[in-house]
This record gives sequence, structure tokens and C-alpha cells, in this order.
Amino acid sequence: MSFHVMIIPTLGCPSNCKYCWSSEESSPVMTIETIDEIVKWLKDFRKEPVTFTFHGGEPLLAGEEFYRKALPALADELHEQGIAFALQTNLWKMTPGLANILAEYNIPIGSSLDGPKELTDYQRGEGYYDKTMAGYEIAKANGLNVSFICTFTSHSIKFKEDIFKFFLDNGLNLKLHPALPSLRDDNPEKWALSPKEYGELLVYLLDQYLENLNDIQLMNLDNLCQCYFGGRGTVCTFVDCMGDTFAVGPDGAIYPCYRFVGMPEYVMGNVYDHPSMEDLARSDAWKLMHQYKDYVDQECADCTHIKYCRGGCPYNAITPNGGEIKGVDPHCVAYKRIYKEIVDLANKELFGGSGAGPAMFGFGAEPVKSGKAGIMDLIRKNSAPSEVQY
Ligand code: SF4
Ligand code: SF4
Repeated sequence: MSFHVMIIPTLGCPSNCKYCWSSEESSPVMTIETIDEIVKWLKDFRKEPVTFTFHGGEPLLAGEEFYRKALPALADELHEQGIAFALQTNLWKMTPGLANILAEYNIPIGSSLDGPKELTDYQRGEGYYDKTMAGYEIAKANGLNVSFICTFTSHSIKFKEDIFKFFLDNGLNLKLHPALPSLRDDNPEKWALSPKEYGELLVYLLDQYLENLNDIQLMNLDNLCQCYFGGRGTVCTFVDCMGDTFAVGPDGAIYPCYRFVGMPEYVMGNVYDHPSMEDLARSDAWKLMHQYKDYVDQECADCTHIKYCRGGCPYNAITPNGGEIKGVDPHCVAYKRIYKEIVDLANKELFGGSGAGPAMFGFGAEPVKSGKAGIMDLIRKNSAPSEVQY
């Protein structure tokens, strides 16, 4: 069993995206002492492989010196249990020096673009696109592997064709993210994508993906198919993330996930106290997350997707209700919609004689034929990841 520690060096961010739910401009930055305390905490915490994801806010605000010290501290001291790194950034602060140290540790980079320049700048602020692309060029020149998350909002959904074409034409792989209600806005739903729209968007993108399977990768759809055909979640949304995912804020506070960082009611402990799993389990936030798991076992008991959906994301379910469990992830509607589409397509191919691929079942890595691919081609193209994706 492996676990995941998200390190949030700061909640600050130089960008000002319209739908952002987390940016705090005056946020302090994590010191290297806190990294040393993370190391001390983890040495006795769990003897299992751990993946560290640097997230934010904007994690590159911590600067080159931070990473030059933090990466060897974590890698050298914890190498016996097996470690991996990832980093999520808007790339604005990327420099050759930073790219160099991140490449030394083979760190995959996730970044964000919402589509063509005008749309990205409209949603994320004037100049966003150019600054991100400038950082992307530096990252690429230093051998870093960058993939992009595209946030679909109630506005950008109207341009879904243009957005897909943009990623396809530019040879960029795509991971999509539905804009969530902003907890820090007077009008939280303004930019949020409704669950119904999200479900229809996934169906549209699956259709486009099958048309262009050799030319683009759409990570969410890979994951959804792997979940369905493998019978287990391959992305955090579709597993019981509680107890195997932690986030450490700039001051060393430990939370259940990066999404909760900065919300005092979700603090489970602090790395400076080197808490054990038992210590964390005594916190209210831990108990709430596990109550959600029990709630899903009851509430979703009759759903055919429960094994590889697990009620979706607890953050999505709990935080809009002020910390009370009143329902599952509102995106349930979208999950059911896309799983139905996958099941229908698979049944057609397996039993109905249509679709492009022969009716073979299982993961593999065969090339896809020309013409529109089938759902089985998609499955054969991608192996299921051994680790849960975030
Ligand atoms: S499912 Fe939600 S709460 Fe859990 S790790 Fe993923 S984003 Fe965080
Ligand atoms: S699709 Fe909906 S009902 Fe089914 S397991 Fe997921 S959240 Fe529960």
C-alpha cells in the first residue's frame, strides 16, 4: 500500500483566476525547517512508498533555493520506503534553475490552460496564457514532462469544441476539471459547471476522443474506463482517499487533502508534533472523512458503480454543506451519465457487432486502427496505472 502527501509551500498565487477557490495573496511560504519536520514525521509514520505532490496556491513561489534543499532532504532521508514526486503549477515562475532541479528528480509537471489564449485570459486574467506558455517552453527545454489541466466553467462550456480543437491542434494532452462552487465568493455558483453539464461534457469528449485516439490523450476518460473495466478506482475521486492522502500546509498543519488547506476546522495535526496515524485518527476532520466513507456504503449501496466510484470526492460532498454530510458528491449525476455511456458503448461492441475494435477484454498496448476507435481500443491503448492518480 502506498500513500500520498501533498506539500503546499504557500497558498499565495500571482494569478487571479475568476473561479479560484484557494488563492490567498498574503499567504506565508513554508520554510525548509518545516520540510525537515515532514521528514522526521514520516520516518516513523508509515513504512510504505510515498508520493509527494507540491501544490498550491502556486508552489514555485517558494523559489529555487527551497527546492534545492527540500528535494534532496525528502529523497535522501526517505528513499528506503520508496518515494516519487509531482508538481502542479501555473509555470509563471519557472526559471532554468528551477527546471533544472525539478528535472534532476524527474518530476512530472501538471499545469493549467483553459483553452485558446482569449478564453484562458478571460477566465484566468490578462496575460495568463503568455506567462504559462513562456514557463512551458523553459520546462520543455529542460526535459520536463508537462501535462495540462483544463478547467471547464459555466462560461467555457459554450466553447467546448474550440477547447478540444485547441488541445488537439497543439499536441497537448488534456485533463479536465469542472469548476467547483467557490467557497469564498458571494456568488459561489457563478462559474461552477453544473453536474448535468459536466456529464454531457464527458460524453462529448469521449466521442471526440474516440475520433482522435491516436492524436491526443484525455486522462479523465482513460481513468473512467480503467475504473469501469478494472473494477477499482484509479484516481483519487473514485477511491476511499481518507487515511491514505494527507496535505501539509505552509505552517506544517496536516489536512486530509490540499483542497482543505487553510480551513482550520479540517486540521488533523501538525508535522512538528510528529503525529502517528492513531493521533490523526482522533481529530474531528479524520472522523468526518471516515463518516463519509460509511455514509457512501449505505447511500450508494444499490448503485452498480459503487466499487469504482466510492461516492466521488468527499471535499465536493462535504464543504458546500458547511462541513455536514448531507449527500454524496454532487457530480454523482455526471459519473452515472458517463459510466452509462461507457457501458452502452462496450455492450454495443461486445454484443452488438458495432464499434471498431474486436471484442477483446483487458488492458494492453496495441496500436489503434485508423477511423473512429471503439471503447475497447481505448482500453487497449492505456495500461491501468499501478498508483492512484491525483
Ligand atoms: S477525492 Fe477529493 S478529497 Fe479525496 S484526495 Fe481527491 S480531491 Fe482530495
Ligand atoms: S455514481 Fe453516484 S450513487 Fe453511484 S457510487 Fe458514485 S456517487 Fe454513489
